[in-house]
Amino acid sequence: MAQELDCQRCGACCAYFRVSFYWAEADDAPGGTVPAGLTRQVNAQMRCMAGTERQPARCVALDGEVGRGVSCAIYAQRSSTCHDLQPGDEKCLRARAAHGLETPSREAIYVRSGAAPAHPASP
Ligand code: SF4
Ligand code: SF4
Repeated sequence: MAQELDCQRCGACCAYFRVSFYWAEADDAPGGTVPAGLTRQVNAQMRCMAGTERQPARCVALDGEVGRGVSCAIYAQRSSTCHDLQPGDEKCLRARAAHGLETPSREAIYVRSGAAPAHPASP
């Protein structure tokens, strides 16, 4: 039987990886969207979401309690890294395991319709 993954009751990947991306995705560059004030410089080319540069990581834009109820305060402006991580992929399951959350096999996963398939990764 399919098991449900609901990002809005998880948030593990927003509180596990360093969420880094090309610097020009921040809104102090033309066309950038991610609020620059919520980022930290990684190197000349890359920034990351503040709070994910350290361990334990937790993105400054993550509201709520991991594993219970969460939301992203900048959902519409989030980085490509956040877009790319998909519920049920390898990074998702790794982050969930690190938080002690259920990690169903990929064949058994049902991604809840309407849930925000949001989240990030960049080890
Ligand atoms: S992508 Fe996976 S780890 Fe991230 S919030 Fe959704 S279910 Fe949780
Ligand atoms: S989806 Fe939102 S809360 Fe999660 S890492 Fe990205 S910016 Fe942070």
